Amino acid sequence: MSFESLGLAPALLRALAEQGYAEPTPVQAAAIPIVLEGADLLAAAQTGTGKTAAFALPLLQHLSQGPAATTRRPRALVLTPTRELAAQVHDNLRAYGKHLRIGSTTIFGGVSMGPQMQALRRGVDVIIATPGRLIDHMQQRSVDLSGIEVLVLDEADRMLDMGFLPALKRILAALPRQRQTLLFSATFAPLIKALAMQFMHEPREVSVTPPNSVATTVTHHVHPVDAASKRDLLLHVLAQDSRRQTLVFSRTKHGADKLVRYLEAAGMRAAAIHGNKSQNARTRALADFKSGRITVLVATDIAARGIDIDQLPIVINFDLPMVAEDYVHRIGRTGRAGADGMAVSLVSHEESGLLRDIRKLLKQDIAISDVAGFEPSHPLRLDAGAPRPAQGQRQPRPSGRPQGSHRPHNTSHGHGGNERPAEGNRKRQRRRRPAAKA
Ligand code: AMP
Repeated sequence: MSFESLGLAPALLRALAEQGYAEPTPVQAAAIPIVLEGADLLAAAQTGTGKTAAFALPLLQHLSQGPAATTRRPRALVLTPTRELAAQVHDNLRAYGKHLRIGSTTIFGGVSMGPQMQALRRGVDVIIATPGRLIDHMQQRSVDLSGIEVLVLDEADRMLDMGFLPALKRILAALPRQRQTLLFSATFAPLIKALAMQFMHEPREVSVTPPNSVATTVTHHVHPVDAASKRDLLLHVLAQDSRRQTLVFSRTKHGADKLVRYLEAAGMRAAAIHGNKSQNARTRALADFKSGRITVLVATDIAARGIDIDQLPIVINFDLPMVAEDYVHRIGRTGRAGADGMAVSLVSHEESGLLRDIRKLLKQDIAISDVAGFEPSHPLRLDAGAPRPAQGQRQPRPSGRPQGSHRPHNTSHGHGGNERPAEGNRKRQRRRRPAAKA
């Protein structure tokens, strides 16, 4: 399968070659022909599958072939849940469209409206917006959506999670009925289906990952630990390979800030990214992380959505998310586009229930092992009410791991003392890649 065979224009093929993309990812191969045909599309694809290019490429092709924009009205609207995702989609559109003359702009909150108004007045073909700020512009009549031919809802499930349904409905009501609608979502949750039924026209469906699954190239590790020792265990895990870029998840903004202070006091270069930070601070933290100026980025769930970091070798859950689905979103930051990744969770006794939910959802192995010196005083309760199973023999530490020596628990997946099947380890050692894309 090649990009040529999907029917993309030479100007796009040239840009893809310059990006170093050799062949389409599965969601691109499935979605691009459908979008080029002009059909509505409902796609289940997570971040990391190449979903952005799956809509951006045919969108650019459509815009480049259409009539010259004489009215300066925008012809396409991409809605995203977060500012970071909007900025990332914009970057991708610019990279793929660099040999075309397509104007685009982002519209999101946290920055002043003036420059956005000026860009809209000058005229653009594509708007990439978060719903709240777009509504502000609609109210100020600084945006005209009557010429929209293509609407993309990116990470629609997350937009609904964040309470954007009323905003979405208002925006949809302002768009021409005659249009193409493309909806991307990590899962086809019932609410997503309902949205599609209401606002789409006979959508074709593409699904590249089974609902609620994570990349099979990701291995999952849990280290049981007392809550009070978590910060030191985190330092210990990070110290195993301090050159690597590591994304650490914290459940709360306050917790993220506290953790960064702790890491900095221990001599690590870290920054936090969460909703209380200004847009500038978030952009700077992300840029510093990508450039390697900081090695640890501590993020909350919502802030981490949509940040574009390629092939992170490791993601650490300092605490588990309250909702199991968020674990899937978090882990989407590692093992992307076929690279191997590792998810390490530091889990206290109190979080046993959350871990049980995640195991139920994942349907994938999670290796559970103590780290020497950090053994918890209370065991995890993995099978509601059941005592912790007998422990196996201490295993030598497989190379390429960030942890200390392990004493594996029974994972109830039949691996006994082995954390991972041997094949997983071999593959990981062979294919270790550099950390983040600059
Ligand atoms: P996305 O799922 O859109 O966030 O894309 C994940 C990452 O994969 C992005 O950094 C893209 O630049 C990259 N990517 C997308 N399509 C391809 C492709 N066909 N080949 C290689 N990398 C790709």
